[in-house]
Amino acid sequence: MKRFYCQCEQEIFINNAFCEKCGRDLIYDPQAQTMWSGVLTDKGFIAHSKDQTNHKIQMILHPCANRNSSVHCNWSVSCTNGCQCVSCKSTRTVPDQSLPKNPQRWLILERAKRQLFTTLLSLNLPIEDFHVKENGLAFDFLEDKRTNPNVSIEHVLTGHNNGVITINAAEADEGFLHTMKEEMGEPYRTILGHFRHEVGHYYWNIVIKDDYQLSQFRELFGDERADYTKALEHYYNQDKPKFKSSQFITPYASSHPHEDWAETWAHYLHIVDTLETAVSYGISAYEPKINDFDDWYSEWARVAQTMNALNRSMGLSDAYPFILTEIVRKKLQFVDYLIDGFAHKA
Ligand SMILES: [Zn+2]
Ligand SMILES: [Zn+2]
Ligand SMILES: [Zn+2]
Repeated sequence: MKRFYCQCEQEIFINNAFCEKCGRDLIYDPQAQTMWSGVLTDKGFIAHSKDQTNHKIQMILHPCANRNSSVHCNWSVSCTNGCQCVSCKSTRTVPDQSLPKNPQRWLILERAKRQLFTTLLSLNLPIEDFHVKENGLAFDFLEDKRTNPNVSIEHVLTGHNNGVITINAAEADEGFLHTMKEEMGEPYRTILGHFRHEVGHYYWNIVIKDDYQLSQFRELFGDERADYTKALEHYYNQDKPKFKSSQFITPYASSHPHEDWAETWAHYLHIVDTLETAVSYGISAYEPKINDFDDWYSEWARVAQTMNALNRSMGLSDAYPFILTEIVRKKLQFVDYLIDGFAHKA
C-alpha cells in the first residue's frame, strides 16, 4: 500500500472520504493509483494539483455511485452518469441490508475487496466485468443459517466457480472469524486473505496460456486433473493434515494442486502489498529492478521477520506465521513469472 498526503500535507488513508485536518474531500483514482484532495460538487470531484513544472492544474473526476451508500466507497469512475467503480460493480449479491449487522459487514467486505483490486490493478491483471463478459469476476456475499436462521442456505462455502467468488458475509464479524480460525487451525485468516486466495483460482485460467506453462505448473504443483472432491474429502477427513511442510506454504495447500496454487497466489499478493507498505513507511529500502525475483524474495524474508518481531514486542501473534522453503520459493517465482509475462504482453 502506498502512502498518500492531502494538499494540506496531512497524511490520508486509502479509505478516507475527507481530510480530518482541513476538511477537503478525498477521492481515490484506481487508474492513476493515487488519492486526490479537492471538493465534491454537483459537476463532479474537482481536484487541484501541480504539474511537473509546478503549475497549478485542475482536474475533474467522478465519484463511484456507492460513495454515499453504507460501503462509503471513495473510488472514482470513468463515466459521468453515476455508475459504480470497478470494485463495487463486481459485487453481485450483498446480504440483506435491512438487517442490523449487514451494512457493517458489507462495508468491511468492500474495503477488503478494494484493497485486493488495488494490488491487482498495480500488477496490470485484467478484471473482467461479469455484466459484459461471461465468467467475468463476480462476488456473492451470502449469509447462512449459522448467523441468519431466515435464509435457506445451511452452510455458505467460501469458494470460486467460473469467475464467481462466494464469501460468507459473517467472516466480517471478528467473533465468527476467530471461531473459524480455531476450528480450522488457521493462525492467519482474514477476509483479504480469502479474496486473495479465491481470485487465484480465477486467474489460473487467465495467466496460464499454453501447454508449456501448464506443464511447468504440473511439475511444481502436481496434476490439477486429480479428483477435486475426493482430494478435499480426504483432506478434511484426516484428524490432523499429514503433509510435507517443506513442500507447501500452508497445510491447506497440500489438499489439491489447485489449492496449492491459490494459496501460493495469495501469498504473492500478500508480499507485493506488504512490501510496498514497508517501503512507503521507510522500513525497507527495496527498489524494484528487472528480473530481480531473488532480491525481492530475500527482502520479503527480512521484512516478514521484522514484522513478526514487532508483533511479538506487542504480545501479539506473528503477522506472517509461515515458513518459506526452497520449494515454496520456486512456486512463488512461477507466479511472478506468469504475472510478469502477462503484464508485458497485455
Ligand atoms: Zn487536508
Ligand atoms: Zn465503488
Ligand atoms: Zn481454493
